[in-house]
Amino acid sequence: MYPSRSLPRLRTLHARSYATSRQPLSGLSQTARSRAEKLSAEWKGTSATGENTKNFIGGEFVESKTKDWIDVVDPASQTLLTRVPETTGAEFEQAVSAASEAFKSWSKSSVLTRQRFVIELQRLLREHSDAIAASIVLEQGKTYADAQGDLLRGQQVVETAMGIPTALLGDTIEVSKDMDTSSRRLPLGVCASIAPFNFPAMIPLWTIPMAIATGNTLVLKPSERDPGAAMIISELCSRAGLPAGVLNVVHGTVPTVNAICDHPQIKAISFVGGDRAGKHIYERGRQTGKRVQANLGAKNHAVVMPDANKNHAINSLLGAAFGAAGQRCMAVSVAVLVGNAQQWLPELVERAKNLKVNQGFEDGADLGPVISPAAKSRIEGLIASATEQGGKIILDGRGVEVPGYAEGNWVGPTIIEATTDMRCYKEEIFGPVLIVVPADTLDDAIDIVNANKYGNGTAIFTQSGATARKYETHVEVGQIGINVPIPVPLPMFSWSGNKASFLGDVPFYGKGGINFYTQNKTTTSLWKAEDAIGNKASVDMPTHH
Ligand code: NAD
Repeated sequence: MYPSRSLPRLRTLHARSYATSRQPLSGLSQTARSRAEKLSAEWKGTSATGENTKNFIGGEFVESKTKDWIDVVDPASQTLLTRVPETTGAEFEQAVSAASEAFKSWSKSSVLTRQRFVIELQRLLREHSDAIAASIVLEQGKTYADAQGDLLRGQQVVETAMGIPTALLGDTIEVSKDMDTSSRRLPLGVCASIAPFNFPAMIPLWTIPMAIATGNTLVLKPSERDPGAAMIISELCSRAGLPAGVLNVVHGTVPTVNAICDHPQIKAISFVGGDRAGKHIYERGRQTGKRVQANLGAKNHAVVMPDANKNHAINSLLGAAFGAAGQRCMAVSVAVLVGNAQQWLPELVERAKNLKVNQGFEDGADLGPVISPAAKSRIEGLIASATEQGGKIILDGRGVEVPGYAEGNWVGPTIIEATTDMRCYKEEIFGPVLIVVPADTLDDAIDIVNANKYGNGTAIFTQSGATARKYETHVEVGQIGINVPIPVPLPMFSWSGNKASFLGDVPFYGKGGINFYTQNKTTTSLWKAEDAIGNKASVDMPTHH
């Protein structure tokens, strides 16, 4: 179907539909069930009652003709919600053709037309935030409040894109007498966006408004595990007046991703996800001359100084380590306790025990399930490796049970004392596991953080401006929080993860997003003032020479 090279295998096992006999709706609670039925009734492209998820090609929600379907299941109950297609080669080609055709007119549309589209999209996203959040809870598993936050962080990118006329302003200078050079930012063409499972709304919204407001057209491939939010957003794009073909959504896994990397008409790829897929996509996409920006994995350290506000530091650690079941690329996964701050560990553990693991619609849920049984067993394996390698599990979330949800992928908050040579420290766990390492001094803490290969995010908790200043200056991490646990900058800035957490040259959204999705054209023109026709009317017979 697609040109094959040595394809890396998907990191986790996907439930292909031919391998399952799951029944739609069977395991859902009453609340989840009514949400699922409402979603399925109201939105064309997605389902939570077992119908197939559609592709969105040329402005239409179309059922794939593929024979290869992937189950999307509720991670709290394994209930089948929908199936996504492994898009066929012909369907993929239709999506790229639709995007190429739409580019001809969309790239020429006025910047005010594009601005009006993002303004309307923002209004509709607000109006339908409930549906998007419900879809996220069902498919991804995070709590309803957290799902609203997922969408809100994406909406902030849409809001920033409303400033597109100003953001696209070019430069002009008179380079010599009567000669001007001016620059314009022009779109690239058809772009592609490949998203991970953990932020089903936010990450598609990192790229949709930026790519489209700059005049490009887009082929989006959401995560095959939770496509619903992207499908609702696509429908809202249509309702906001986006012409057919400007946004297209294709589903699938490695073959669809490789088709994106190889297609000559696709000019740029935005990828967010794990290291393995990201490196592959970066290398394969670059081979065909594409721009690629790839946000990858992370291991984020929070340094807790003994002079910190203890209550704030502990609460921040808990929220940042265990919120979203640790499935955030900016989750705090390592706490470096400096000096006397090590004495706060028992209190940290006690408060972590109070967090409630539950299905995302349930009252009081602090964290939901992890995404899949495979993710659960990988996380549990990494927890087990800590004991094998001499670490100490001081809070063990394995085996946690949630009444009414016997089949869920549950892992409770877990805290492990470890050293930096252990697997549980070195590998990204992407689950509710906090590794605690001690340090004697601030300098030791900085050395620990800088020796780590990743550079996505870090935080320091201290009451000293000087300590914070030193940390900020010396730490080699792209996104730093000072008494702020998850320092994701708002989108007037760009995402700034670095080291092994990023591949490419130009980051997501903010000024970086504008630069990524545009190329400059400069024009130098000479209009000699002396050639101007005098402003005095001529009464002579025109002779046209
Ligand atoms: P993933 O890499 O498994 O999947 C991401 C996307 O790549 C999906 O659309 C998937 O279909 C595709 N894919 C997966 N394996 C592939 C392969 N071998 N070849 C080609 N395509 C492939 O990531 P995930 O599990 O969905 O998300 C979790 C990861 O994403 C974590 O590592 C997390 O740190 C990272 N992440 C990073 C950021 C960031 O901004 N740095 C943000 C969110 C998530």
